[in-house]
Amino acid sequence: MAFELPALPYAQDALAPTISAETMEYHYGKHHQTYVDNLNKAVAGTADENASLEDIIMKAEGPLFNNAAQVWNHTFFWNSLSPNGGGQPTGAIADRIAADFGGYDAFRAQITEAGLTQFGSGWAWLVEKDGKLAIMKTPNADLPMKHGAKALFTIDVWEHAYYIDYRNARAKFIEVVLDNLINWDFVNANLAS
Ligand code: MN
Repeated sequence: MAFELPALPYAQDALAPTISAETMEYHYGKHHQTYVDNLNKAVAGTADENASLEDIIMKAEGPLFNNAAQVWNHTFFWNSLSPNGGGQPTGAIADRIAADFGGYDAFRAQITEAGLTQFGSGWAWLVEKDGKLAIMKTPNADLPMKHGAKALFTIDVWEHAYYIDYRNARAKFIEVVLDNLINWDFVNANLAS
């Protein structure tokens, strides 16, 4: 059974103007699709053909890992966003952010710093590790599950995530994703899982 590009949890233009339909056309329709296609080519006729995406991610290295992890990362990223998201946390995660970071402003400052200081391509994450919330940054396709951490939220800081809408302004992209799109319901669901 081949891997498939998961449907977006909203319309392709639903995140505009924060993330334009044109960015989604390329980022979801071309980049994410290409990772799916390359993963399928890599596993065709191998023992991994019927493996789960997570199993491939945990055991693979090199190009197979890169494509499998980027399929997972992008699906997780789309689910981390909502047209009705953004702003202050709600539910259980609000209490955890207060306890483990000292408040939303400190969380926001730390994940912004992680995204800005990830040199080159990569990801900024809110994770739970050893029972505590933490901020991580990972290069290229790397992701929390490879480091014993549970992903709760991510921002893609590859240039392809923001260059159409914000050109070189990665800081602006991070700011508006946090202000307008962060899906706290998804974060809470991950926390509870
Ligand atoms: Mn991306």
